[in-house]
Amino acid sequence: MGLIVQKFGGSSVANAERVMNVARIVTDTYKKGNDVIVVVSAQGDTTDDLIEKANEINPKAAKREMDQLLCAGEQISISLLAMAIESLGFPVISLLGWQAGFNTNSIYSNARIKNIKTNRLQAEIAKHNIVVVAGFQGINRYDDLTTLGRGGSDTSAVAIAAALKADRCQIFTDVEGVYTADPRKVDNAKKLKEITYDEMLELATLGAQVLNNRSVEMAKKYGVELEVLSSLNPIPGTIVKEVAKMEKMLIRGVTKDKDVALVSILNLQDTPGVAFKIFSKLASKNINVDIILQSFGRDGTKDIVFTVNKENGPVAVELLNDMLDDCKIVCNTEVAKVSIVGAGMESHPGTASKMFEALYESNINIQMISTSEIKISVVIDAEAADRAVSAVHKAFIPND
Ligand code: ASP
Ligand code: MG
Repeated sequence: MGLIVQKFGGSSVANAERVMNVARIVTDTYKKGNDVIVVVSAQGDTTDDLIEKANEINPKAAKREMDQLLCAGEQISISLLAMAIESLGFPVISLLGWQAGFNTNSIYSNARIKNIKTNRLQAEIAKHNIVVVAGFQGINRYDDLTTLGRGGSDTSAVAIAAALKADRCQIFTDVEGVYTADPRKVDNAKKLKEITYDEMLELATLGAQVLNNRSVEMAKKYGVELEVLSSLNPIPGTIVKEVAKMEKMLIRGVTKDKDVALVSILNLQDTPGVAFKIFSKLASKNINVDIILQSFGRDGTKDIVFTVNKENGPVAVELLNDMLDDCKIVCNTEVAKVSIVGAGMESHPGTASKMFEALYESNINIQMISTSEIKISVVIDAEAADRAVSAVHKAFIPND
């Protein structure tokens, strides 16, 4: 018994039947003597549909008005879920973000939570109500509605769990947990029992679509243990926490990211300060650079190669062309980044060579390599990405 925060994503509340299913999960938890706060996202594709509606009218609409619009999605799901819970005979109240005390900064469409004023939530819990809260939204100091960025409901749930020191924070979704690779694409992808915050952050950033990475950052900061599990199949999911057991595996997962462009600057003058000039220029235009490679200088010139998001590739080339003479700048958008993630690799020599061997055996050429304590990434041809993920996964994850 205790306070449990449960979050349900858009697919878990997509239609009446699914809303009733969620109402049953929530009330089963309540019946066991727990206090329950439920955070929900907008139903199914509602948020995308609302964005499309806005685009039909004004594709450049002010972000304040977009937030005003998008908050409606979650308003629909909280009221419907509250009605469903009521129909099962339980005391319930739904609250919008501002009613639940979510104060944010004023960056519309990508706001950060400043604090949660918890009086109302606590008062409703004291009255033994099940509290249904709209995820993804808050209010700023001008009393305007704000949203937390796409996928922001996960963060709303973690923030409540942190603010009220909940005993559990369960994130329900349409998959059964966090997998070693995309189970729809990779044979033998395995569900993990546990994973650390740092590993989950890497996986979330590298494109695993289970949890929003800001929510994982927040969970790590406040020590909120998360359980990712399915709303459709009641079996244990994956626990995200500070220290996680290894399951006879060196790595936790293999990911691919196709949103990559590789920019090469060839025959650059080999003088002090060129790297500074190039990267400060890119930074001034808010272009985030990921992997950087510089060759040894030879005959007074050198090459610098780096990766950026696909949409930033051509922008970077244009900026650099304006700034640099006498060198050749090319952009390749037909590349992908394949990565392995796992805290175990820190203490296991040979992890990198095992990954490279798997790629070699599949005849896949590596264009760039980058490593951190718990991650190794390679840049390869986009066309080979799926093959690479399967080959690397097979090399690391034992067969049953
Ligand atoms: N409904 C919002 C979105 O689709 C928030 C969320 O799903 O977490 O991005
Ligand atoms: Mg959604």
